[in-house]
Amino acid sequence: MRIPREGLPSRGFSLLCKLLKNAKRENWCQCHLADQQIPQLLEKVDADVAEKVRQGGCLHCAGKLHSAKYRRKPRGQPKQDWERDQEVYRASFCCDQDGCRKRHTPPSVRFLGRKVYWGFVVVLVAAMQHGITPPRLHALREGLGVARRTVEHWREWWLHTFVQSPFWSVARARFSPPIDLKTLPLSLCEAFGVEERRDRLLALLQFLSPITTDSIPLGWSM
Ligand SMILES: [Zn+2]
Repeated sequence: MRIPREGLPSRGFSLLCKLLKNAKRENWCQCHLADQQIPQLLEKVDADVAEKVRQGGCLHCAGKLHSAKYRRKPRGQPKQDWERDQEVYRASFCCDQDGCRKRHTPPSVRFLGRKVYWGFVVVLVAAMQHGITPPRLHALREGLGVARRTVEHWREWWLHTFVQSPFWSVARARFSPPIDLKTLPLSLCEAFGVEERRDRLLALLQFLSPITTDSIPLGWSM
């Protein structure tokens, strides 16, 4: 698209820039949401982390870890060919020693805590609350089958629960300039450059993954 820059009054030009920027924001979000490869990629990353947790054994005793996975039915994506014939599980393990039996649920890039939607949908749709107009957000929600109340809960979660979490109180220090808390999680997406590439979305989800479990300490390295 050519922009006749000289011909536009500066106010008109800045308005046009803003509109283009918003269109771009919407595009990157929808590109990620439509990307058929993301769920498979995330599944592989989760499987690798889970194997690392399993191999490490119990964090509380010398026990071995046995699989005690959870079945999940994450929402927010049309059912895809690769998952049509298979169940979706979240990896989890239990210690095999009597008297311990502690559960170990590995950090995940797919599931954000107990939320029923795919984690990347929770990140991207909540980010879009700050990036696009209400009618476009409405269309995006409808397309993914996410209720407005659900998006409002996510917003509350980002702006209150997340910013007050022990994870964020440590992790926030690594950002310079500081993250704008009022526009979370869009500000995090921007800091990670999620607009540019799929691997940056993965990096953001990996960064967030410690908050997806209570049974693995925050300092556990991936
Ligand atoms: Zn144990």
